[in-house]
Amino acid sequence: MAETPAPNEGGPDLPGRLALVRASIAEAARASGRSVDELTLIVVTKFHGIPLLRELAALGVTDFGESRHQEAREKAAELDGLGITWHFIGQLQSKKARQVAEYASVIHSFDRASLADLLASGERAAEGRAIGCFVQVNLTADPDRGGVLPQDAVALAEHIGTLPGLDLRGVMGVAPNDGDPRRAFAELRAVSDDVRRSFPRASALSAGMSNDFAEAIAEGATHLRIGSAITGIRPARG
Ligand SMILES: *Cc1c(COP(=O)(O)O)cnc(C)c1O
Repeated sequence: MAETPAPNEGGPDLPGRLALVRASIAEAARASGRSVDELTLIVVTKFHGIPLLRELAALGVTDFGESRHQEAREKAAELDGLGITWHFIGQLQSKKARQVAEYASVIHSFDRASLADLLASGERAAEGRAIGCFVQVNLTADPDRGGVLPQDAVALAEHIGTLPGLDLRGVMGVAPNDGDPRRAFAELRAVSDDVRRSFPRASALSAGMSNDFAEAIAEGATHLRIGSAITGIRPARG
């Protein structure tokens, strides 16, 4: 795992960046007539080392997002006992899925029915500790990007929603790099509306990253996945 990088030259330090992002979230919520109480900030700490996570936990961060299983498992073990909720946000291999469910309470990247079947019959589900599930929707024109096509999201949600041990929370999406994020999130919101017709309680919307969380909040995001704006530049992929 990489070392925690030095604070960005001349800019605010970690507590300063966290405070700035929290203030921007509050401002975006106000601008959309929403309450910050509806919003969960997940700080994405992928590629960062344990010291940075400890510092964030000491600053009151309770929700961490990770995208690689080995790394996430190590961090969850190190920080055990701090009351952290782990969100798995990366593409999930079937052979790793049950291991991920041992530490992650929420998985944001459901993209196939077989993954849901695997987890529903796993140990965690059997113990009655339901796994929070988001259906990831591909909002780009590239079919190789993570997630199901928008038109396939309801079918996957219905599949998850009927399985024991899985708690369908809603939908998740990443705006394309080269498009208008507001438009992408509006599309995600429409998918969310469709899902809610079948499962009114699946009202969560996981959307918004460092560069587009204000647009996501404007389109109804409830779970923000924010990394570099808080953590600083990510160390190179280990
Ligand atoms: C890395 C990542 C993020 C955070 O990205 P930033 O631009 O650093 O805020 C959010 N969501 C997913 C799925 C990611 O992989």
